[in-house]
Amino acid sequence: MHGKGLTPMTEATKEQFTFEAEISRLLRLLSESLYQNREITIRELVSNASDALDKRRHAALTDTNISADDLKITISPHADEKVLSICDNGIGMTRDELVRNLGTIAHSGSLEFLEQLQKSSDGSADVSLIGQFGVGFYSAFMLADRVEVRTRSVHEESGWIWESTGDGSFTIEPAADIPEPGTEVRLHLKDGMEEFTDATRLKYILRRYSTFVPWPVYLDEEHVNDQDPIWVEPKGSLSEQQYQEFYEYLTHPGQKAKWHLHLSADSPFQFSCILYCPDTNLEKMGFGKVDHGLHLCAQRILVQNDNRDLLPDYLRFLRGIVDSADLPLNVSREALQDHSVFIRMKKVITKRVLEHLERIAEEDAAAYADFYREFGGILREGINEDFDNRDRIARLLRFRSTDSLAEDGLVSLAGYCERAGEQQKQIYFVTAVDEAAARRDPNLEIFQERNLEVLILTDPADEYVLSALGEFEERRIVSIDSADLKLPPRDSESDTDADDDDPKKDDADRENLPAGFDRVLELFREALADRVEDVRRSERLTESTCCLVNSQGAMSTTMQKVLQMNIPDFELSKMILEINPQTPLISRLCEIVVNEDHAEFIRTCGRQLHANAMVLAGLAPDGNELAERTQGFMLELARQRSAIAGA
Ligand code: ADP
Repeated sequence: MHGKGLTPMTEATKEQFTFEAEISRLLRLLSESLYQNREITIRELVSNASDALDKRRHAALTDTNISADDLKITISPHADEKVLSICDNGIGMTRDELVRNLGTIAHSGSLEFLEQLQKSSDGSADVSLIGQFGVGFYSAFMLADRVEVRTRSVHEESGWIWESTGDGSFTIEPAADIPEPGTEVRLHLKDGMEEFTDATRLKYILRRYSTFVPWPVYLDEEHVNDQDPIWVEPKGSLSEQQYQEFYEYLTHPGQKAKWHLHLSADSPFQFSCILYCPDTNLEKMGFGKVDHGLHLCAQRILVQNDNRDLLPDYLRFLRGIVDSADLPLNVSREALQDHSVFIRMKKVITKRVLEHLERIAEEDAAAYADFYREFGGILREGINEDFDNRDRIARLLRFRSTDSLAEDGLVSLAGYCERAGEQQKQIYFVTAVDEAAARRDPNLEIFQERNLEVLILTDPADEYVLSALGEFEERRIVSIDSADLKLPPRDSESDTDADDDDPKKDDADRENLPAGFDRVLELFREALADRVEDVRRSERLTESTCCLVNSQGAMSTTMQKVLQMNIPDFELSKMILEINPQTPLISRLCEIVVNEDHAEFIRTCGRQLHANAMVLAGLAPDGNELAERTQGFMLELARQRSAIAGA
């Protein structure tokens, strides 16, 4: 006979909690979801069980009171009770952990997931992504109308039962009858979900989603994932299908990889690894820096599932697994990072990835261009990050160019140099907000006239990378608006001595100059003394009258504009105004300069030309001054006309 106090005691220890509002919303959406692929619930629960086993093994490494023998996951269907049980002997949960883990949303991405679900009101949202958003457990309510979690933490002598029908609340009560640490999730299946107690169906699902789970998975007594892990298999023995399945395991079903790289070595240290390049760059889609890493195993046992140190940052988009028999099992992340095998392995893997990219670029330019469009923005960071591999990475860079038909629309620096020929000692680039603007840049005229290829940079980061690189195959990389631009000799010049400093050439050029040009330049300099570094004759303009160029060593105008936008008191460096002597306007000014009465008019023209050049370079001249001056010109013209008309 039970004591009178016992019943109320038990009642009192059963506590009721309300779910955090987001979870209630999530549960409502999940139960309304028409989503057909309910198998993913099994995947999520098995994956949670696997994480719990990882945690127990980790705990056992530092705490000798915790054992980690015979860790496994067991799936047991009970057809007569319409119950499916997923059981692990992992870390388990305390009461507080239950409240926290299965009552609140810790993961920041989960709200996004909710919104995604909500947006597609027909329920067609991709529920299979649930695990990525850190709320996989709740998919249990797609199969079950009641979920029981019976758990005992490795740190406690007795356990707890968490229970919910997925409405707004859950209960937790103590359970004295849980003999071993671990967790059992009991799904009380909804009507119509009986298939999830069918052994054949379950085996199919487990084979599909759990083949690569690093712990033994049993369906009742049967071990369903007893194959060797794929990365230790010899490379040649695997099919594309197997690689694809493994990629889906690492990411999520339906995901495809652009390419994969399977590496293994036995000396000087043993390791094998499979790396995948995803199809799309999530960072580009606004997900911020990707927050996943490589799975790292030591002797086939998972040590970390998000290692970010084994690859350099500029290869962070790769997914995959690395397994080494020479890595220590039981050290902290920090200690591992400093481990000599780890450091050497990082070097080897990085080199092999870069070699692999070189191979793709060589064998299939279109495939490489496709890869580069997606991940080039991350890869190019390597120029600043990895000095040892800088040359290699430089060869992997791609750009648009004025010769856009070359190399699949994207050109390499090596290809550029090959087309440029021996005489051209510099690699030229133009920067602008878009390609059309770049092609309108007056600085480009001479290059077009002389058929010289120019790289077109529309992303300021590209200029940053190129200026860090400085040169390629001993050719300096220069912006076309830079003062230290050197053009190769013209074909007619190349037979004779075509040295830039050739005095004979200078004299010949001088003869073509209109008389008075030097005086015009002088007046311009006077007028613009406080605005430009110099005014000089242009060698690069063929059509336009003037342009602005940057003095030696200065950043391109585009780059300066970017900085100006981001740094409030950034000052543009003083530029050089270049004047083309061969245009009708300048010829006229050269004619009238002999009369000192016109000096002030010519100075005003100089100021206006400077303002025009600024506008052409995308810079904003002083608007008031500009308006006043042009109206002055108009007034002058109007006066002349009225004088002629005799009005
Ligand atoms: P995620 O696993 O992405 O964190 P879930 O909603 O699937 O999100 O699970 C929430 C948390 O509940 C987990 O982080 C974990 O702490 C805990 N949990 C879930 N299943 C188990 C389990 N079988 N054993 C121990 N803890 C678990």
